[in-house]
Amino acid sequence: MMSANIMKSIAKFGFKDLFMPFSKKEQYDVVVIGGGATGSGIALDATLRGFKVLLIEKNDFSEGSSSRSTKLVHGGVRYLEEAIKHFDKDQYHLVKEGLRERKRVLNNASHLAHPITLLTPLYSWFEVPYIYLGLILYDIISGKYRIGKSSIVAKDRVVKLNPSIKKDGLKLAVKYYDGAFNDARMNIALVQSAEQEGAIVKNYTEFKSFIFDNDKIVGVKMHDRIKNKEEKIYAKHFINATGVFSDNIRKMADKNIKNILRPSSGIHIVVDKKFIPSGDGLMIPKTKDGRVLFMLPYLDKCLIGTTDNESKVKEHPKVNEEDIEYLLEHINRYFDVNITKKDILCSFCGLRPLVDLNHDKKSAKLVREHIIEELECGLTTIVGGKWTTYRSMAEEVVSMLTDKPCKTIKYKLVGSHKKISFKDLTNYEIDNKTSERIIKLYGDNGIKIALLAKNEVGYQFLSDKYHILKAELLYTIRYEYVKKPLDFIVRRANLGLIDKKESIKILQKVNDILANELKYSAKFSQSLYSESITLLKRGF
Ligand SMILES: Cc1cc2nc3c(=O)[nH]c(=O)nc-3n(C[C@H](O)[C@H](O)[C@H](O)COP(=O)(O)OP(=O)(O)OC[C@H]3O[C@@H](n4cnc5c(N)ncnc54)[C@H](O)[C@@H]3O)c2cc1C
Repeated sequence: MMSANIMKSIAKFGFKDLFMPFSKKEQYDVVVIGGGATGSGIALDATLRGFKVLLIEKNDFSEGSSSRSTKLVHGGVRYLEEAIKHFDKDQYHLVKEGLRERKRVLNNASHLAHPITLLTPLYSWFEVPYIYLGLILYDIISGKYRIGKSSIVAKDRVVKLNPSIKKDGLKLAVKYYDGAFNDARMNIALVQSAEQEGAIVKNYTEFKSFIFDNDKIVGVKMHDRIKNKEEKIYAKHFINATGVFSDNIRKMADKNIKNILRPSSGIHIVVDKKFIPSGDGLMIPKTKDGRVLFMLPYLDKCLIGTTDNESKVKEHPKVNEEDIEYLLEHINRYFDVNITKKDILCSFCGLRPLVDLNHDKKSAKLVREHIIEELECGLTTIVGGKWTTYRSMAEEVVSMLTDKPCKTIKYKLVGSHKKISFKDLTNYEIDNKTSERIIKLYGDNGIKIALLAKNEVGYQFLSDKYHILKAELLYTIRYEYVKKPLDFIVRRANLGLIDKKESIKILQKVNDILANELKYSAKFSQSLYSESITLLKRGF
């Protein structure tokens, strides 16, 4: 593991405690900065191992990269190809770790993650053995963590499954299995689980600076962006899990250190599910720059992605036209009908926190592995990796603070304790379509939403088209840290990730309910509306 031999300056297992400066004011054992997949995973792991944890996120949880992924829990078919082609051990270990963690995500967040089948249509007989054997190898490497067996699908069957696929020259397709998950909701389930185990979790709380005692960090200054309030807190351990922003935070701890990140941007577009009517995803094996593309079933739509271009660090990165054209050009090579810009329901862009210690590779070629760095002043930074491996990354970091055993391997996240079906919600007079939607997003917490509807607010929809209940909004305000309209529209109800027009349509209603529930002033509420409409229109 790369992180085991890079930049670790202080020994593992508890030594650190011996050197910690004592402060009477210590309120926490661990402060985690950054509430994406990495920070939220660490907060949960550390809390479960007995630490008193504070997790702070400057925006909403998962508002950075962690709600903008391709939503695959995977070993990475492309990384496997790289591993074999270049005898690259790092890539191979990454694939293996991903496959092991894939199974754990599927088990531990069963309402949010599930296996999917992916078809790779092939138009040359030469490609067949290469791709098929590659996918068989993917199965073999999965070992006991395998979730399905790759197979060949005859041309007739492929056309039956997907009538608009390009037929001219089609030889057959190869089918394989991978995992798909709901990234934004998984992030919330992690935060809720951490809180349930005793962590203090705060979104819209920005880390501003470190407090030093001699050369050691003993506390942080932070700013509550909703209440506009500054606060100082003191702790023993400080973990920087701020993704593409990590270099900024590292430099506040030590201004002389070099950058370790080279972010790359990736966009996704969402279209109607009619382009993948069978529910199987498509894996397009080769683009002109040697990448793979995916068309995946996602919340009753089709998600297409992604691109890979070096990028500056920015908040709310924008989707550009060239990237959309790139995706459409490559996807349309595989269809007899043309998918056009008019078909796009929504698009979004994210930044990969790629680690670059070489500075000479193209970003698409950088290994997606993580590194952990411990600075003498007491700041630990963890960066890189992927969503799929958030749990093992967290395990590794927390194991540097304690030798207590990790408890997350079989830990069921909030929402996945009890399997419920839409029948369980019919007792609460919720129709089947609404029930299905609620269970998919909230798991067993769907019951709480149903109860809220039945006993308190009724069955009024915010969106008739998608059966989004007003009760769902109230539930997320009360239990899922919703403070701004897009927290709900994009990251809790996921409407913003699939339908921009409908999101704009419900914005005013959501904003009004939010202001009422959280007692926002008219001025603040108006500013939230303006901010949200701008982001929805330009891309959040
Ligand atoms: C296009 C794309 C596709 C991807 N597809 C996949 C995939 O299919 N499968 C997969 O496994 N992985 C995928 N990934 C990778 C995965 O999304 C990322 O590795 C992961 O989300 C990174 O999480 P993170 O917590 O490290 O970063 P982030 O999610 O960015 O979280 C960092 C957080 O720190 C916060 N922060 C920054 N500064 C401060 C501060 N001063 N105070 C408080 N908080 C602060 C930010 O607001 C942010 O929310 C993809 C990534 C991209 C961009």
